[in-house]
Amino acid sequence: MKKITSVCPYCGAGCKLKLVVDGGKIIRAEAADGKTNQNELCLKGYYGWDFLNDTKLLTPRLTQPMIRYERGGKFTPVSWEEAIRYTARRLSEIKAKYGPRSIMTTGSSRGTGNETNYVMQKFARGVINTNNVDCCARVCHGPSVAGLQETLGNGAMSNSIGDIENSRCLLVFGYNCADSHPIVARRVIKARQKGAKIIVCDPRRIETARIADQHLQLKNGCNMALVNAFGYVLLEEELYDKDYVASFTTGLDEYRETVKDYAPEAVEHLTGVPAKQVRQAMRTYAAAPSATIMWGMGVTQFGQAVDVVKGLSSLALLTGNLGREHVGVGPVRGQNNVQGACDMGVIPNQFPGYQNVVDADVRAKFAKAWGIDVAAMDDKVGVRITEVPHLALEGKVKAYYIMGEDPLQTEADLGLVRKGFEALEFVVVQDIFMTKTAEQADVLLPATSWGEHGGVFTCADRGFQRFEKAIEPKYNVKRDWEIISLIATEMGYPMHYDNNQQIWDELRELCPLFYGVTYEKMGDMGHVQWPCPTLDHPGTPYLYQNNKFDTPDGKGHLFAAPWRAPAERPDADFPLVLCTVREVGHYSCRSMTGNCAALQTLADEPGFVQINPADAEALGIKDKQLVWVESRRGKVITRADVNERINHGSVYMTYQWWIGACNELTQDNLDPISKTPETKYCAVRVSAI
Ligand code: SF4
Repeated sequence: MKKITSVCPYCGAGCKLKLVVDGGKIIRAEAADGKTNQNELCLKGYYGWDFLNDTKLLTPRLTQPMIRYERGGKFTPVSWEEAIRYTARRLSEIKAKYGPRSIMTTGSSRGTGNETNYVMQKFARGVINTNNVDCCARVCHGPSVAGLQETLGNGAMSNSIGDIENSRCLLVFGYNCADSHPIVARRVIKARQKGAKIIVCDPRRIETARIADQHLQLKNGCNMALVNAFGYVLLEEELYDKDYVASFTTGLDEYRETVKDYAPEAVEHLTGVPAKQVRQAMRTYAAAPSATIMWGMGVTQFGQAVDVVKGLSSLALLTGNLGREHVGVGPVRGQNNVQGACDMGVIPNQFPGYQNVVDADVRAKFAKAWGIDVAAMDDKVGVRITEVPHLALEGKVKAYYIMGEDPLQTEADLGLVRKGFEALEFVVVQDIFMTKTAEQADVLLPATSWGEHGGVFTCADRGFQRFEKAIEPKYNVKRDWEIISLIATEMGYPMHYDNNQQIWDELRELCPLFYGVTYEKMGDMGHVQWPCPTLDHPGTPYLYQNNKFDTPDGKGHLFAAPWRAPAERPDADFPLVLCTVREVGHYSCRSMTGNCAALQTLADEPGFVQINPADAEALGIKDKQLVWVESRRGKVITRADVNERINHGSVYMTYQWWIGACNELTQDNLDPISKTPETKYCAVRVSAI
């Protein structure tokens, strides 16, 4: 029996665990003493490994390469040589015929690791010669990255997960941490136990609201109006830190000009939050000796998400809650390695280490290191994954190489996404399961899973952590970066690595932010937070020390914008608002957690719609009854969960299920900057069956 050090593959909390292996099988997981989890795990951490042991798999594991030579035909099992040769030939043909920007690629924010993401973006930029590489950060915290880069200079959490419990006030905005990141929720509870004030802003009565001092139950789709009202109170009641603002920020006059129309009393009808509560919340937040703002997808999955992120970070700037311990801004990243995927440059505007693709010097540096002609490199920002369906229908994207993502389950408006897929000429899916997207592929490339390979993940607080291989893969599968390297080599660019560390050392050399994060240092310290620019640097638990921001002028940029209504409002035909949410027992498209026996037991009912008792009664719907939920884009069957925690006029569905798939209903109104879809708001009707 042996115990292998690993990191949970299920959320950005990055909990350390030990996989106990006996006879080549994992027999249990034990909590380990990681910086973020301190010997605790949630259910997914304890029970999320047994798909690796072949228990009742609902979604078949991909066990060998397969090709569908004819669109709509059957998959043919093939050798790896044939799969690589065929994929390389088809990609080369499409590149030659339509140009490099006709090919889209994705990295993965899931169990594959940073090294693989680095290799995927190198393949896109260095071999295909396109910046068309993206990941699912686009549909979750893309707005946090874009917004925070503008106001503060870095798109990540400013402080540490372990430090949340030491803050004296937590403003939890659009973030159901109990379901999304249970171990982060533990930090919130500990903060409460230590005397912190908790302010929750959420339309639903979520778990955290139970321990909150204040629950501001705002109406769906009004985030910007409430954030502006917060700013109004800070200025009008002179609660803001005048010296801090004068010394370390810019933009106060413009900020004041915008929020002047958002007196809490004036926008009460819009936000649904009594003005007294808004004023009390800001008095509490501003008076706290240390305060932290945390948010989740209740902020980011809206058409005005980037503005709201900038507005929330402005509250921290106005009150001087940055640049020291126990304070800051915390966009808590969803999937386990979504921070890492962005760090590694699987985003269409930046190379690894957040170096801009439009900067000629940066391109020259990467071209030299990779031994390619800089003139061949793409000098424009690439395509985002949410733009692919539209561009495919316009004939501008022809091929899609998807690694570890399932857009046909997880993206908004699945009818549109399916039409986009039908218009593509060539789809390659590299995955561990036969997902909804894999079913539509021309080539299936089976990869090793978390547990069958090692590497480095980045958790939500910028902490790099190594995870080790626990068991040998049973099938004819290869490591993700090995598959990509073979295709690159077949396309005429020799690419070979012996191991993860070789890749890691290559990317460290190219990324000043990460240069000091060696394998040895991660081994010794366990968790090393970027920036870590030198070999003797210990990492950075909190950003913006001495209140020097990473913006071009070194200042924090205050920002407010007028509220914009969501794109699709309820009306007589579709009178309810649908908001998509998480559930605690499952993760993302459920391909991993749905194949774990204990987690199946926890939640195996395919989908449900949460609805307020008064709305249910008006519609003649009883608890657990089968119902139709319908929007202008689709109609799904599911079961009603009549629940008094739900606010009147809205319904909520989780997106993990094939039956009752809520993304058949959602719409893809995109934030104009981050291109993140408004999956938290569309109009629906619910009817009894
Ligand atoms: Fe895994 Fe997240 Fe649960 Fe920690 S909180 S055990 S990282 S799912």
